Amino acid sequence: ISIPIQRYLATNAEQVNVESTPSTEKHQFQAETQQLLHIVAKSLYSDKEIFIRELISNANDALEKLRYVQLAAGGEQVEDDKREIYITVDDINKVLTIKDTGIGMTKGEAIDNLGTIARSGSKAFLEELKKEKGASDEGKIIGQFGVGFYSAFMVSNSVEVITRSYKKGEPGYRWTSDGSGSYEIETLLDDVERGTSIRCSLRDDCSEFSKEETVKQIVKKYSNFVSAPIYINDVRV
Ligand code: ADP
Ligand code: MG
Repeated sequence: ISIPIQRYLATNAEQVNVESTPSTEKHQFQAETQQLLHIVAKSLYSDKEIFIRELISNANDALEKLRYVQLAAGGEQVEDDKREIYITVDDINKVLTIKDTGIGMTKGEAIDNLGTIARSGSKAFLEELKKEKGASDEGKIIGQFGVGFYSAFMVSNSVEVITRSYKKGEPGYRWTSDGSGSYEIETLLDDVERGTSIRCSLRDDCSEFSKEETVKQIVKKYSNFVSAPIYINDVRV
């Protein structure tokens, strides 16, 4: 066996999760993330609808990344190149879900990207907040910097992310959190579609975001930059 093949096998073995039983792990958020989430969840920021803009923007980024890896691999690596965004609202259970068929996340990526503040916008937000300190300025600063994925916690009691990476052999994962100190990650044994689905269980005072017409207007306002088709409850926007 030549060295390149050995190396290939080793890399592949690392990528494949070989756990044979369902497992759920509990992780603490990084201290800075906890701080940010605490502020976001308590915030009286009135422009809460921007969480939809942030989640659509992440879905669009994930679709663009998929396009990129596919081009880089000469079209070989990705089995199905469908790139779409599906939003579903459930007015009875007060749930809004945004799903994309993008690049998805491995377990490590979910831990790094959703559990720590790598993002410059969120870092800048915290720094600015330490400078100004006034609680009344929080909303202004949230609007100015954006808090990306974490903005889902402005409107949600809990957020569930189901994701599967485009990488071969990767299982799906369920990431869940109520935005207090910790989150859980479970390896899924059943088939999961490639991409990411973000399910927001809405707070009572934010139930407007489970109304189809309201969500449609918000999506129209913020989706100019998105080239992929967006569906709301199976109807193309
Ligand atoms: P930013 O988009 O500025 O990087 P966010 O807080 O909005 O910051 O998102 C953090 C990270 O989480 C993203 O950079 C990405 O790696 C990951 N992420 C969020 N949503 C998705 C998604 N729908 N698909 C894949 N990765 C995602
Ligand atoms: Mg983002």
